[in-house]
Amino acid sequence: MHGIWNPWHGCKRCSEGCRNCYMFYLDALRGKDGGTVYRTIKGL
Ligand code: SF4
Repeated sequence: MHGIWNPWHGCKRCSEGCRNCYMFYLDALRGKDGGTVYRTIKGL
């Protein structure tokens, strides 16, 4: 079950606090680049 609704995926590191970003970590595990920002739902 998915408890999070988010029409976007990805982000741009913007501060020192982003060094260990979990989203970038998980995307790297999946062979993806977390820096690629895209819509997950069309038409919004
Ligand atoms: S921690 Fe990750 S998701 Fe949060 S602002 Fe930084 S790069 Fe974006």
